[in-house]
Parts: sequence; structure tokens; C-alpha cells
Amino acid sequence: MTYQADEKGYYGEFGGAYIPEMLYPNVEDLRQQYVQIMQEESFQKEFKDLLKDYVGRPTPLYFASRLSEKYNTKIYLKREDLCHTGAHKINNTIGQILMAKRLGKTRIIAETGAGQHGVATATVCALMGIECIVYMGEIDIDRQAPNVARMKMLGATVIPAKSGSRTLKDATNEAIRDWINNPVDTHYIIGSVVGPHPYPDMVARFQSVISEEIKSQLLEKEGREAPDYVVACVGGGSNAAGIYYHYLDDLKVGIIAVEAAGKGVLSGESAATSALGKEGIIHGSKTLLMQSPDGQITEPYSISAGLDYPGIGPMHANLFRTGRAEFISITDEDAMKAGQELAKLEGIIPAIETSHALAIFEDHKFKKDDVIVVNLSGRGDKDLSTYIEYFNL
Ligand SMILES: *Cc1c(COP(=O)(O)O)cnc(C)c1O
Repeated sequence: MTYQADEKGYYGEFGGAYIPEMLYPNVEDLRQQYVQIMQEESFQKEFKDLLKDYVGRPTPLYFASRLSEKYNTKIYLKREDLCHTGAHKINNTIGQILMAKRLGKTRIIAETGAGQHGVATATVCALMGIECIVYMGEIDIDRQAPNVARMKMLGATVIPAKSGSRTLKDATNEAIRDWINNPVDTHYIIGSVVGPHPYPDMVARFQSVISEEIKSQLLEKEGREAPDYVVACVGGGSNAAGIYYHYLDDLKVGIIAVEAAGKGVLSGESAATSALGKEGIIHGSKTLLMQSPDGQITEPYSISAGLDYPGIGPMHANLFRTGRAEFISITDEDAMKAGQELAKLEGIIPAIETSHALAIFEDHKFKKDDVIVVNLSGRGDKDLSTYIEYFNL
């Protein structure tokens, strides 16, 4: 019994690769090679060197003493906000750009919603001198102007997706169309643990550096490698997969996944996929997703752009279905309050995505000597205008 992916990319009944025939050669090529390439010594060395000298790893495991005192338990923060570009996403894009090079690819495409994954992709393309095309919904381009400017400054071409709702799912469709048309020279960098096999497993492996580091850091601080709980917010689920990875099959470690309830789970404006989702296929993978009774994907809502994804990765769908993880949904309001609280108690302004994970302490009580590690997935600089508007700063 394992909560990791099997050979075919299934987590229980979720996952797999449901793709159009035209995409089969690209995905199959990647599937046959990814594990072997990742295990090569030269790949590991290049990956680790870049994580250290370019990304700034290992990120600290910080004991948040004032936050712990307030909630009468022991809370550690894994400081992914200190990564280059301000969040965990760069761990994956570094891994995938090295993979693309090993596969002989000379052109990178990506989709982005809020623009964070687009920036992380444009960054590694600049680093390697590889052409970068980012698809982004026309509406998102308007909403996320600073990230569009960052991508352009990094040398990427940003192409607006003008069909459908002109948001993330439409950008994804455009990226897939591009990949079908350019199967030989192009690698598609997906930004979370979503998409057809092998993407969810590959991205989880790249992000697993997070829990790998926690094991030795916690051993030093607490005399044991495993905490009592690991906590993360879930959009697609990549920062969560990273902090859960080495604890998935250790049932003594509690797993907590935090989703965005938006204006309330039942308000019609939310992104609480586990609570509202039904089985379906999105981006080539069988998982839980928010859909209308006739199977149309519904547009999710959250105050944090990084959490308003209509599905969750298949790993998380399985953690939900089997009860291995506890899923909690947090409203915009409670998340904003928790973000403000972390700033005042610890001097750290978190990304609003991360604020959702921090908000669980208000209602979820832990024992005094429980050791809890929260993934501080990103910093709040990108969200300053939202904080300003919300709190009248
Ligand atoms: C993108 C993002 C998320 C959500 O993505 P996951 O794949 O679920 O991790 C969470 N936090 C931050 C800071 C992000 O930028």
C-alpha cells in the first residue's frame, strides 16, 4: 500500500494519461525517460548545484515562537518564500529545464494563470538561453500586469489566450495545441502536480526536495525526522506534494491540505475542489474537479490567484478519497486575517495562497507538544496591492 504513483501514473483510481493521440509521442517519450534521467549522477549534480547557488537552498526551517505561543503548540515554517523568485515554483522549473535539455529540446512552452509559473519558467529559460513562450488568458494578462512585465523583461513571449473564459484553462488549451504542432523541438513545462502522467509524479519528485530538507532540519531541532503534522495550501498541489512527499507512507505523520473556500464553500464563488468536486478529466488526468451537472468545468474563485484552479492533482484526490489527508477549506476573509497575523507576529508577509494554510490554527486545535510544519510556499510582495485594498493600508 502506497500513496505514491504506480507505474502507470495512478494514485488509487486517479491520475493516468488521457491525451489526444497527437500528443502521445511527446508524453510517451517523457514517460519512458524521466525516471532514468532524474537518477543520472550528472543530472542530480546539476540540479542540486542550481538549487543551492541559484535558488538559495536549503531554505530554512524556522521555529515560529510567537505564533506557536499564541496557538499553544509548536509551529515550524518551511521558508520557500526565500527561494529565488519568491516561491517554491522555481524548484520544479529548474528540474524541468534540465530535463528538457537532456531530451534535446530547444523551445519551452508554459501556461500560466496568475503569472507566477510563467515567471518561474521565463527565469529558467533566461538562465539556460532557451526560447520561452508563455500562454496566458487575456483577462489574466490584464489582472496580472506586473508578472507580464517580469516575463517580458526575462525575454519570454507572452501570447494571450482569447477563447472561452480567457483564463487559465484556455491558456492550457492553447499550450497543448502548440505542443501538438511542435512535437519535436518543444518541451511543455507544467507548473503543478497536474496534467497527464508522468507530470504529476515528475513535478512531485522535483518538489520533494522540500520534505527531504525538513527531515534533516527537524532531526537537528527536535531529534526526529518526522513531525506530527505537515500542512500546505493546495491549488494544483505542488507545494503540498513537496512537503508531504517523504511522509506520505508514514502514517504517524498527519497530512493537512488547505483549499480556498473563497466567499464560502456553498457561495458559488469558491475553489474548494475536494468539497465540491466530482470525478472527471482535466488536463489529461483523472481527478476531482469542479463541474456543472452536465460536466462543464466551472470557473473557480479565490482572492488568491494561485489557488483558483478548478481541479487538484491526482495525488491529492487520492489523499482525499482514502482519508489519508484531512482537507480544510478557508475563506478569503480568514486567509487575509492569518496573513496579517503572521506579518505582525513573526515579521513575515506571506503570499495569500500561504495565508490559507496559516489560517487553520484559529479553529483546528493541536496538542501543546505537537510538532507542525507549515509550508510557507511564497512571499507576499506580489500580493501587496490586494493586502492594501483589503485592509485600507
Ligand atoms: C502557485 C502557488 C501556490 C499554488 O500552487 P500549488 O501547485 O498548489 O503549490 C501556492 N503558493 C504560492 C506562493 C504559489 O505561488
